[in-house]
Amino acid sequence: MRASGRFVAGGGPGYPPSVRCPTCGSIDDRVIDSREVEEGAAVRRRRVCSGCGHRFTTFERAVPGGLSVLKRSGAREPFERGKLVAGLLAACKNRPVEAGDVEGLVDALEDEVRQRGSEVTSQELGLAVLDRLRELDEVAYLRFASVYKSFEDAQDFEREAGLLLKRTAPKRPTGT
Ligand SMILES: [Zn+2]
Repeated sequence: MRASGRFVAGGGPGYPPSVRCPTCGSIDDRVIDSREVEEGAAVRRRRVCSGCGHRFTTFERAVPGGLSVLKRSGAREPFERGKLVAGLLAACKNRPVEAGDVEGLVDALEDEVRQRGSEVTSQELGLAVLDRLRELDEVAYLRFASVYKSFEDAQDFEREAGLLLKRTAPKRPTGT
């Protein structure tokens, strides 16, 4: 699988990864200075573009925490990763799913949600979880959907479950 980001392990050549030059668009730069700023809360790097020689600055800082979930009632509560992981592990009980798969699912989900902002509705979150869980294990997906359904208005899930059953009913090996 090809990741969309460029990952560079360790601290060897090419680390930290280049950032696209704001002047010429080249994605090949050299870091000429890295230093802690804001009392260690951020790292400031001076970079020089290998394409055009332009010098520019990047900052690296922690993503602010505090993702919040907007419930249908209008109440907001903090996103609780541990609770979601526990719910998913329960749905995956006795299924061929590793705890690492669940952690990975939640990592990807958190990344996706954070890209959209610091708040997500409980419905968006539930649907995003189900989307990913379906890829992982269909039985776990149905279990999770039925739990979710018990506390959310669930037309979406009934439709989803119907589609899933339709899709899996005539399951035969294809081609091999
Ligand atoms: Zn450049």
